[in-house]
Amino acid sequence: FPVENIRNFSIVAHVDHGKSTLADRLLELTGTIDKTKNNKQVLDKLQVERERGITVKAQTASLFHNCEGRQYLLNLIDTPGHVDFSYEVSRSLSACQGVLLVVDANEGIQAQTVANFFLAFEAQLSVIPVINKIDLKNADPERVENQIEKVFDIPSDECIKISAKLGTNVERVLQAVIERIPPPKVHRKNPLRALVFDSTFDQYRGVIANVALFDGVVSKGDKIVSAHTQKTYEVNEVGVLNPNEQPTHKLYAGQVGYLIAGMKNVTEAQIGDTLYLHKQPVEPLPGFKSAKPMVFAGMYPVDQSEYNNLKSAIEKLTLNDSSVTVHRDSSLALGAGWRLGFLGLLHMEVFNQRLELEYNASVILTTPTVPYKAVLSSSKLIKARRAVQKNMIFIDQNRVMLKYLFPLNEIVVDFYDSLKSLSSGYASFDYEDAGYQTAELVKMDILLNGNNVEELVTVVHKDKAHSIGKAICERLKDSLPRQLFEIAIQAAIGSKIIARETVKAYRKNVLAKCYGGDITRKMKLLKRQAEGKKKLRKIGNVEVPKDAFIKVLKTQ
Ligand code: GDP
Ligand code: MG
Repeated sequence: FPVENIRNFSIVAHVDHGKSTLADRLLELTGTIDKTKNNKQVLDKLQVERERGITVKAQTASLFHNCEGRQYLLNLIDTPGHVDFSYEVSRSLSACQGVLLVVDANEGIQAQTVANFFLAFEAQLSVIPVINKIDLKNADPERVENQIEKVFDIPSDECIKISAKLGTNVERVLQAVIERIPPPKVHRKNPLRALVFDSTFDQYRGVIANVALFDGVVSKGDKIVSAHTQKTYEVNEVGVLNPNEQPTHKLYAGQVGYLIAGMKNVTEAQIGDTLYLHKQPVEPLPGFKSAKPMVFAGMYPVDQSEYNNLKSAIEKLTLNDSSVTVHRDSSLALGAGWRLGFLGLLHMEVFNQRLELEYNASVILTTPTVPYKAVLSSSKLIKARRAVQKNMIFIDQNRVMLKYLFPLNEIVVDFYDSLKSLSSGYASFDYEDAGYQTAELVKMDILLNGNNVEELVTVVHKDKAHSIGKAICERLKDSLPRQLFEIAIQAAIGSKIIARETVKAYRKNVLAKCYGGDITRKMKLLKRQAEGKKKLRKIGNVEVPKDAFIKVLKTQ
């Protein structure tokens, strides 16, 4: 295939603006998939993607298109739109020369539209703005054109107005891909230089690496080397994604496809790695931003006997999602488990849901936390920094873009939900890491009758300590059974008590109700009390059932 006839592009957009629907139409229009079939989100292959209607993993498809007597090879990479997966977006972009920036004609520019535009802009890609859903009653494509001109400095006449749902003007999108996106700059005569931009794990065939060839050719049987690990492999299969794998004899520079070479683990085919031919080393392609977990949570089997099953499920799932970090952990309350790092909350939920859907696992997930860097001082009190406004841009009369510096901790749990409900659903939100900032954080202990409960130690902002401590004490009060004596539940910072709840003594109250008379009822109550002690943990003289820990530690 002549390089001049190749186009590598990606579709980026805010979530729900219509990427996957447009991808379906492009696949149909080029005859890659059958139009008569009920094609919906063909590239969303994961069950969790179909259930939630979101794209989690970028997918690739090669389309063939005839235009004015020439045949073109268009490599389309669909990307997820959600903030948590911007890592997937940036790695898809490294294999492209252009993007279709899809914007909903009703909603206009949203937070991830801006984030995605700048990812493409920084990668120096051609950006084709596509205004989608013009069939909607409230669609206002002219307003969106003006927004695009104002915010991205793209002349409004470059916008293509379409309805991906109905197929209106979709052929103009294909035309623009051919006319406005340059072919890849590659050298077929040079030795092989291939970029690994994604990888998946197949139980039977091992690692399937998605590659973009910048130089040279790769064939079945070639010996290749990973620049990152310096390991050598023999290529068992190469091919294109159509969108399913279709083996070919060779892949040439400019093409995007897949490669199988006996790699056992996705860490052997790291995203951003360069592959070259054995004994023909090349300068590795510049790597790109690696995934960095932002949210951490504990994961435990509901029943410890399920530990090994859960372990193997987590291992298999992380083979396909190298952005999740896994460390073994154990909790006195919840037993043996793991501390997992995720790109964000949705990523965490999706991972959890995939464990349930694909591996039938049931787990306890603890309330997510964010990483802190602790600098020890005698009081452990460090200088404060809160949300700081950085800038404000009016996108048009009705919409404003605000940029703030926020402690990550403030946005991981319920910020997005609060923002959505405060703005009646109009506001959208995106974030990027701004590095560590000093903050006045304190270590908060939870005490039961003066004894520290190790399982419940947390790091909180000084100003929030009181309200969080109070909430934990209340939750614990509700889930601790009454015992023979009064229990004081306290939240403390150092030796200072900041919140307190009391669980009254049990025996006196309950037995008092029996008026000292009915001996069988009395025995029954005492027996029930004894049964309740099973699976308890003793903290000082206070017995805490496992359930109470779960109620305090679990999300929601
Ligand atoms: P993605 O999250 O960007 O991949 O968006 P999807 O392709 O999943 O589309 C989100 C929703 O918008 C789905 O319910 C689509 O049916 C709908 N949608 C997509 N394109 C159009 C369109 O042109 N017109 C209308 N009315 N709805 C559309
Ligand atoms: Mg999608």
